[in-house]
Amino acid sequence: MSKIARRKFLQLSAVAAAGCFVQPGREARASDLPQLAEDDPMAKAMKYTHDASTVDAASRNNPAADQTCANCALVQGADGDAWRPCQIFPGKAVNANGWCSVWAPKA
Ligand code: SF4
Repeated sequence: MSKIARRKFLQLSAVAAAGCFVQPGREARASDLPQLAEDDPMAKAMKYTHDASTVDAASRNNPAADQTCANCALVQGADGDAWRPCQIFPGKAVNANGWCSVWAPKA
């Protein structure tokens, strides 16, 4: 398996695994959640940052130019909130201006 195919496989696996934890109608509220720390081991593994502008766009797998947690398919909560729940990091809130390597476009 090529390096890129393996990376994509791992990302999609993470998304699928996160979906297993999501319970419809039981979406967490960001105000109830602690903020995800950038040095959290899972955050580091997913290259999460609070500020997407610090990420070199050329290093991203997905070609979409503007990628933030606020426009990611995996974010939850209310548009406009500074910190929002994310399906990849259950029990934590991510910064709306953040980014991680699992970013996916909204359908
Ligand atoms: Fe979650 Fe998407 Fe932000 Fe990654 S980019 S932390 S998957 S909302």
